[in-house]
Amino acid sequence: MSQSVSCNSCAYYEDHVANSTKVAEHAGLCRFNPPVTQPEPNARGLWPVVTASDWCGHFSETRN
Ligand code: SF4
Repeated sequence: MSQSVSCNSCAYYEDHVANSTKVAEHAGLCRFNPPVTQPEPNARGLWPVVTASDWCGHFSETRN
């Protein structure tokens, strides 16, 4: 898979912190799907964390 279709070039990649105040280096959040987990009934869900070089079949240069 070439670098041009990796998460850091995807319209659904968000490289700033939204899950917590800390995020792994070269990582961000995938916004393609809604948050996937809810640790407690009153807690909010968490966005999936991906690395900048990850990729998946939903890659897109624009938000649809
Ligand atoms: S996991 Fe897929 S949809 Fe999410 S940011 Fe990466 S390439 Fe885009």
